[in-house]
Amino acid sequence: MRKSWFWVLLLGFVATLVATPTPRMERTRVADGFDYPVGKPNAEGYYMARGFLPYHPGEDWNSVEGGNKDLGAPVYSVANGLVVFARDAKRGWGNVVIVRHTYISQGRLQSVDSFYAHMQRVTVREGQQVLKGSLVGTIGTNRGMYTAHLHFEMRKNLAIGINRSAFRNDMTNYFRPSVFIDANRNLPGAGRQSMVAVNTFTLPNSMFDPPVDESRGVVSSKMTNSKPSLRKTPQTTRGGASTFRVNRFEDLGAF
Ligand SMILES: [Zn+2]
Repeated sequence: MRKSWFWVLLLGFVATLVATPTPRMERTRVADGFDYPVGKPNAEGYYMARGFLPYHPGEDWNSVEGGNKDLGAPVYSVANGLVVFARDAKRGWGNVVIVRHTYISQGRLQSVDSFYAHMQRVTVREGQQVLKGSLVGTIGTNRGMYTAHLHFEMRKNLAIGINRSAFRNDMTNYFRPSVFIDANRNLPGAGRQSMVAVNTFTLPNSMFDPPVDESRGVVSSKMTNSKPSLRKTPQTTRGGASTFRVNRFEDLGAF
């Protein structure tokens, strides 16, 4: 009798091992505080054109000058972290960067993703370490789909990645970006490093291309879509021009 229980337990243990994806861990700098992604560090010269809403789990940031005056303006990483996504996600998103941060809050090491969309240029690669205030890209229009603005999110749930429709737009998955930043401007942990899981979201196949630089052409290199790739890929450019056609920003509530 004892012997059969042993085998049942062993089988269960092995099945658990097989069923659980192994987290892939990378080292990154702990965030010692969060700044705004535009007009660093305090969003000077920018305003929140659209806030966090049930259908819009992020914030849209625009230059106070209005229109497309902020096209090409710098977008900064809000904190130290690791780039886990830097691609052209097409559709309503365009060029997207996701930076994964670890930070110490309430005495505990926690993780959060910052998400930057519709960018004209992407200036980082997946796997790259960034610091608070590092340039990650520039403000864009997603190929003329919107008036130039930064769509910005802060995600509690590291599984969202680019599959936003699979998750509820609520406070279990998201932070209100400005509220989170204001509450975490200065944190302990300066100079420290931590490990963080990087393969926490999946990419649907054949949906993503290497980042497009609207202002300087398409960054072309073959990247596989199997997992959030952190491979270093050589970047070369081919033709492409900056255009913005119509202002449909106001019509597209979802973004
Ligand atoms: Zn938006």
